[in-house]
Amino acid sequence: MSTKQTGPTALAGRLNDNAEWDDPLLRLAQSQFLKAAAIMKLDENIKERLLVPQRSLLVSFPFRQDNYSEVETVFGYRVQHVLTMGPTKGGIRYHQSVNLGEVSALAMWMTWKCALMNLPFGGAKGGVRIDPTNLSRAELQRVTRRYTMETISMIGPDKDIPAPDMGTNEQVMAWLMDTYSQQVGYAVPGVVTGKPVELGGSQGRTDATGRGLVYLIREAAEHIGVELKRATAVVQGFGNVGRSTAKFLEELGVRIIAVSDVTTAIYNENGISVNSMVEHVDANRMLKGFPDGQEMSNQEMLELPCDILVPCAVQNQITGDNAAQISCKLLAEGANGPTTLEADQILNERGIFILPDVLGNAGGVTVSYFEWVQDAQNYMWTLDEINARLHKIMTDAFRRTMLRAQRDGLDTRTAALIEGIERVAAAKLVRGLFP
Ligand code: NAD
Repeated sequence: MSTKQTGPTALAGRLNDNAEWDDPLLRLAQSQFLKAAAIMKLDENIKERLLVPQRSLLVSFPFRQDNYSEVETVFGYRVQHVLTMGPTKGGIRYHQSVNLGEVSALAMWMTWKCALMNLPFGGAKGGVRIDPTNLSRAELQRVTRRYTMETISMIGPDKDIPAPDMGTNEQVMAWLMDTYSQQVGYAVPGVVTGKPVELGGSQGRTDATGRGLVYLIREAAEHIGVELKRATAVVQGFGNVGRSTAKFLEELGVRIIAVSDVTTAIYNENGISVNSMVEHVDANRMLKGFPDGQEMSNQEMLELPCDILVPCAVQNQITGDNAAQISCKLLAEGANGPTTLEADQILNERGIFILPDVLGNAGGVTVSYFEWVQDAQNYMWTLDEINARLHKIMTDAFRRTMLRAQRDGLDTRTAALIEGIERVAAAKLVRGLFP
């Protein structure tokens, strides 16, 4: 007799029970998945299989600080959620709160994102539990090279291809590519994406996540009747995604009334010049001290009345506690997992249009895919070609998501997830089981 428990929560509970990856962020990703799975009546066996990551690696390694006497033991992770679709793909995050559960959640979202965008990848993610903000260049390089060595058995251009995420950038990808290449004995540009153009990086990759998000903001604004030239936006996070998004919104005539980073939030109802803010942050490494506006907390900023709210920082920002006070018309998720399930329901009931993370920030992995293809074929596409392809893929995914949402009466997040999950489930079914 089967001892399987039934029901979505019971299933997640049973699989997470005492599991190393159990974590609030993974539970959020699992709950979103289970909600979609119930609506689409996903095959029970496939549902169980997709609820947890397929392969996970947890390593600890010594990190020598510039002060030679100090050696810290740090933890590193690489998780591959689904290996069915092709190589796996996902960023590497350096942050003090990284753990196996967080990385597993991010890997799961990568699976749905790649499938939604029709990219030939399964989802993966990696990370190191370290605060990169005060590391010297040499320290960052040492952490990266050692992390690469510790995870080298999992990565490769045909296996698993890392990219930048929070706390990492194209320089980190260059060191990763160099370390991998040193080991195999020849240059392997395709082992990472988001690397510098000189090493086989793609035109447009640095800005791709923000650019893709703004392509979708244009579509969504038209859909809900917001005129961008008269619109206001609030952007949380001013790193890779936040600054590109702010820049492209400003180019469209949107007034950026508030921006934040981990140190502060700056509000100016007359609009903030994105260029001056970039100059300030590049010079000071933080937003604090930016003169042209009034300081407030991140939480206060999220509740400012605006047309477009763009979280581009960390997860878990819009929750049951503040969802009722969020006063935007469009929530465009650049960050992964910024909105909890409870908040989702409140926002949907209040008629706030959501561009969900798996769709909204998919421009990054889409141009990463272009980079990987160019590396494999020695192509060099122009920025115009990249942007045209990106635009087509983003708007096509938006159109499919909206069609499904309208046809089946779903919220946009669930519709986007089902688009992705359906493709993964179909691939799993045709591949069958081994042995
Ligand atoms: P980043 O490290 O370049 O920038 C992060 C920004 O967020 C910084 O300005 C930092 O100060 C700010 N921040 C950190 N903690 C904060 C907090 N508690 N409150 C407010 N601000 C805070 O990172 P990124 O690459 O721009 O990534 C941001 C988000 O976008 C992450 O959720 C990431 O997973 C997601 N994302 C990134 C990419 C990419 O291509 N880089 C692609 C898809 C999704």
